[in-house]
Amino acid sequence: MHKLAQLDHRFVWHPFTQMRDWLKREPIVIVEGRGAVLRDVHGREYLDANSSIWTNLHGHRHRKINAAIARQLKQIAHSSALGFANEPASLLAGELVKAAAARGALTPRSNSLAKVFFSDDGSTALEVALKLAYEFTRRTRGKSLGRAPSRAASSRFLALDGAYHGDTVGAVSLGHIDLFHKAYSGLLFKTDKVMSPYCYRCPFNRAKPDRRDARAYRKCNWECVGKVEQKFSAQKRRGNPYAAFAFEPLMQGAAGMIPQPSGWLRRVSEIARAHETLLIADEVMTGFGRTGIAEGKRTKAGNGKISPAPSLLCSSALFACHHEGVQPDFLALAKGLTGGYLPMAATLTTQKVFDAFLGDYEDLKTFFHGHSYTGNQIGAAAALASLEILQSPASMHARQELEQTLRGELKSLWALPNVGDIRQVGLVAGVELVRNWRTREPFALRERAGIRVCEAMASRGVLTRPIGNVIVLMPPYCTTRTQARQMVAALHEACDEVFH
Ligand code: PMP
Repeated sequence: MHKLAQLDHRFVWHPFTQMRDWLKREPIVIVEGRGAVLRDVHGREYLDANSSIWTNLHGHRHRKINAAIARQLKQIAHSSALGFANEPASLLAGELVKAAAARGALTPRSNSLAKVFFSDDGSTALEVALKLAYEFTRRTRGKSLGRAPSRAASSRFLALDGAYHGDTVGAVSLGHIDLFHKAYSGLLFKTDKVMSPYCYRCPFNRAKPDRRDARAYRKCNWECVGKVEQKFSAQKRRGNPYAAFAFEPLMQGAAGMIPQPSGWLRRVSEIARAHETLLIADEVMTGFGRTGIAEGKRTKAGNGKISPAPSLLCSSALFACHHEGVQPDFLALAKGLTGGYLPMAATLTTQKVFDAFLGDYEDLKTFFHGHSYTGNQIGAAAALASLEILQSPASMHARQELEQTLRGELKSLWALPNVGDIRQVGLVAGVELVRNWRTREPFALRERAGIRVCEAMASRGVLTRPIGNVIVLMPPYCTTRTQARQMVAALHEACDEVFH
């Protein structure tokens, strides 16, 4: 075993990893990356088919991001945002507000995202949104109901079934994946959940399994939207409408790459707004172009009553919620913010929320929250470079091409009897493996089907991580057509090897 692997085995505890299994074999030790390729300590090369857990956008060692970081290092690596401003963070906040500006009739002007609160990762971006939403609601509702602020303190949050918003205690409270959350239930505050539109396994979908994305052939009456309506109405009857509704727009990632049928997000957002509930869009995974250039335009209408999403607010929309004409009150960003280089996050919110925290010093209306590395200069410099690349015509073109290539290649997987559903939103794809596609019968957990397939892919030089029995393909935007083909071919061959 390589000495670095030995050191790892001796001292490192890996995230979301059964360490007994980990210690059974030599880990892949990554020493280098370029574009979509990673190289290990033995010189073996791999394709980074999940963009290093959904973070990388433009490929590894991108010339422009490297140069931006090197330039920043000649100035300063870090100074505190507690008490001081700095150049790259100020510039980045301005660029993020610009990028998040929805250009469309649907968005009320009062709802534009005007302020940026920086933090460190996806979990903290959500913590910030949670605390701000909680406190904003407590202050403003208390006032409007003529009560002292504390009387409105019990306002609850609503999230989707299967939601994952991070691992800090607030973010875990908002989540609804039993596997991750049960162990800590004693530590968490209560939040409500509502069904998410998982067409492939929806109890209201009357369509027989087919060899197409389940969204395309579902037979239903949008009961999932009805469930959201019921949830909001019931909470209203209790006299305490939800403080905020948190969701991942267009596709729920850790839940198993669950895509929303066109129109769902717009409808449920309208319901939430009608109940004066704030919207928290978790775009930690979906942000920065991941959901494609024009999903709202491409996706065909379902067979229900809801019309397709309105045309894009902006054809180059970088954020998933804009594809459905939705502007949230909180936009949580991380992962791809720095192009996948550094841990940095941002929570964007409205002037209205900001104003609720203004007051005299002794009023103690301050937002008492912040981290040591908030607004870090190197992260901000990387993020500025990444945003510039993203908005270039070359990047937009490459993303469109890659999306189409992926769409074309993935079709070949329908031939596999253990592929139940293939769902792609922009540059994210989830392939759900099942025991029998005709019945949608899932594999049991102990069969480790997803893990075995990913191991067989790794032996073919393609790295990704499953979510249960869903295989994720989320390539960096620089992935070539040939590399995209290799990723899908490796998945195809891995299924052949594991299931036959
Ligand atoms: N929200 C979503 C949608 C995520 O996918 C993740 C991470 N997978 C998080 C929040 C938490 O982000 P982090 O791991 O950076 O804390």
